[in-house]
Amino acid sequence: MEQTLSIIKPDAVAKSVVGKILSRFEDAGLRIAATKKIQLSRADAEAFYAVHAERPFFGELVDFMISGPVVVTVLEGEDAMTKNRDLMGATNPKEAQAGTIRADFAESIDANAVHGSDSVENAAIEIAFFFAQKDIS
Ligand code: GDP
Repeated sequence: MEQTLSIIKPDAVAKSVVGKILSRFEDAGLRIAATKKIQLSRADAEAFYAVHAERPFFGELVDFMISGPVVVTVLEGEDAMTKNRDLMGATNPKEAQAGTIRADFAESIDANAVHGSDSVENAAIEIAFFFAQKDIS
């Protein structure tokens, strides 16, 4: 079974739509293999988004990701990575298809409700960033 990492970002946690977003994963046949609510430190956010370090929006992205708690989740199922990306919708919520998480819950390109791993290889790295193997079941 494939696994992928989801992060419900501070905007969606603040809006109390965590349950609604987790339901979308489950309704799509993805199983929650691990989940926890955490506050990222600046060092955590910088390390997690290191691939974007040279992008002009890196500072804004890190500031936003530490602005409040997030919910990190390991999703498991057939084609979990692609399924999650489809449920999320486009990075910019204004371009996200109707019915996707970002179209329904996100406000802007930085406050865009969710993160999802963009490849199976990155999913393994991102899951290991947040969870020990013993905490995934
Ligand atoms: P994702 O895989 O759809 O989340 O998109 P990316 O990997 O390209 O970007 C990572 C995150 O950086 C996005 O989810 C956004 O929160 C943020 N981001 C991407 N592009 C921009 C931008 O042009 N401006 C700002 N402020 N944030 C951006």
